[in-house]
Amino acid sequence: MASANLKLALVAIALAIVIALVIVSSQTGERQVSLVVVNGTVVTMDGAGRVIPNGAVAIDGSDIVAVDTADAIQRQYRGTETIDAAGQVVLPGLINTHTHAPMVLFRGLADDLALMEWLTKYIFPAEAKTVSPEFVRAGTRLAALEMIQSGTTTYTDMYYFEEEIAKETKGAGLRGVLGQTVIQFPVPDAKTPADALARAETFINMFKGDPLITPAVAPHAMYTLDGPTLMAARALSMRHGVPTLIHLAETRDEVKTAQDQYKASPVGYLDRLGFLGPGVVAAHGVWVSEPEIMVLRQRNVGVSHNPESNMKLASGTAPVPGYLAAGVAIGLGTDGAASNNDLDMFDAMQTASLLHKLQTGDPRAVSARTALEMATIGGARALGMADRVGSLEPGKRADVIVVGMATARQTPMYDPISHLVYTTRGDDVRTTIVHGKVLMRNRQVLTLNEASVLAEARGWAEKVRAAVN
Ligand SMILES: [Zn+2]
Repeated sequence: MASANLKLALVAIALAIVIALVIVSSQTGERQVSLVVVNGTVVTMDGAGRVIPNGAVAIDGSDIVAVDTADAIQRQYRGTETIDAAGQVVLPGLINTHTHAPMVLFRGLADDLALMEWLTKYIFPAEAKTVSPEFVRAGTRLAALEMIQSGTTTYTDMYYFEEEIAKETKGAGLRGVLGQTVIQFPVPDAKTPADALARAETFINMFKGDPLITPAVAPHAMYTLDGPTLMAARALSMRHGVPTLIHLAETRDEVKTAQDQYKASPVGYLDRLGFLGPGVVAAHGVWVSEPEIMVLRQRNVGVSHNPESNMKLASGTAPVPGYLAAGVAIGLGTDGAASNNDLDMFDAMQTASLLHKLQTGDPRAVSARTALEMATIGGARALGMADRVGSLEPGKRADVIVVGMATARQTPMYDPISHLVYTTRGDDVRTTIVHGKVLMRNRQVLTLNEASVLAEARGWAEKVRAAVN
């Protein structure tokens, strides 16, 4: 009996020791992870729309491992690096679903013109004389610097020498869906559309499977390509399972061209060709009727809404409330900096929200939450990447930004989502993290030399000015 009691006592003591160890270890953080962002207001953009007032995000390597209260995260995780986000807002990095990164070098070159005049008198001639691998590399470095500084973590690009753009994007640490342009007339990187298609395929093979770069094919538009080339570009992207990026129904001129040449609307024409389907990301979608919205929905086409570019070029107002009601995957874009004139996605959110209130006479047409959704998870859906980015959830890539909320303009703060859309600017972003790597800490960009990127861009501006004079 005595020995049985002794055994029982020993078991009880052992159990108590184990329990004590578990408590102690959980208090100090059981699991070592690479990075913990703590004490911020975490706006997750997850399915439940969770906002965690004193929250934290645990990151290990490239992935988010946990999103919870700061207490819970600190009990379970110990970060090799810790970022204190007290007084700041932590949210998924912003997703720019349409731009032309190197066009930052044409920023402010020609303003206050309609699309066709702007393109044919200024942009196409300037591009013909200046665009080269060196030009796109310098332009991409400048664009990447601006995007990192303003909280964009994934961007979608359509331009020339896309492999050079991809190398610089990787170097800067950004995530990119990068489309090699296919266009009918001779351009700096291709004499013919067949050259451009061959270049696109080489590019796809070069970057397929890359953790940061999703290569894509970018047939420019229905008005700059014939039907067979459009379909060849589409077939190429389908063969490789990569996105197809196109400008669609941007202006009334495009609608007129489609009517005159094909007796159809731009959407009707592309659908008749069999072009529309999953993986197509259509930029603008301004001149799209209600029934055509349903066509885009049925074909699973993603739409990129670019309110600032559409307003600046007086292209028109996209039927965004219609897209939202129909359940079309819709994201926000800046378009190239030459028609915006910056790459600030906070501007894009605010403009989208204000524009559709005015257009519809309904202040609820695009709410702050909806605008923020379009800039994050909505953009991820439009690009077919919602399983990887667009929200702060365990298992997704760690693309995270930390936004300061301490300026006079942001004081006081009742609702972080209101502030993110209506008062915050790109400059308020303090920290930018992509794929678990800190690209900017306290406004210090770590992957690019800011001074040399800016100096180099000013040097290119001299050549651009000479080209259009
Ligand atoms: Zn564009």
